[in-house]
Amino acid sequence: MTKNSRARPPRTRNTTPDPDRLERIVADANRARAAREQGYRERALKILPWVCTRCARSFERARLRELTVHHRDGNHDNNPPDGSNWELLCVYCHENEHAREVDAALGGGEAAPARAGASHRPLEGLADLLKKKPRG
Ligand SMILES: [Zn+2]
Ligand SMILES: [Zn+2]
Repeated sequence: MTKNSRARPPRTRNTTPDPDRLERIVADANRARAAREQGYRERALKILPWVCTRCARSFERARLRELTVHHRDGNHDNNPPDGSNWELLCVYCHENEHAREVDAALGGGEAAPARAGASHRPLEGLADLLKKKPRG
């Protein structure tokens, strides 16, 4: 009988974490988040006009998935029924909004070129060290 024979490699038992399990946990978390988002999203779309607060683009039902719910205070668990913490933003403006937050967290929106320079410097120092090292 080969019916019950399973060709599963035994070595993933306790050395590495089961990637399937991890995937399942992530999937569960994503599903929970999606369910939660679905909840406030529906409520937000019910009480707010389908217009991007930032660029004033308006949306009809067919394109409604391009309109997203942004939380003014950044807390997705803060969903007052009057909608005071919600802002409807199109996906572009929403991305923009969060990109600005990330920039601010990193210490200023103009910091990108400086950051690139800083990450470059250690290599230059290393080159100098290698250059200075006497031969023989
Ligand atoms: Zn917009
Ligand atoms: Zn947001």
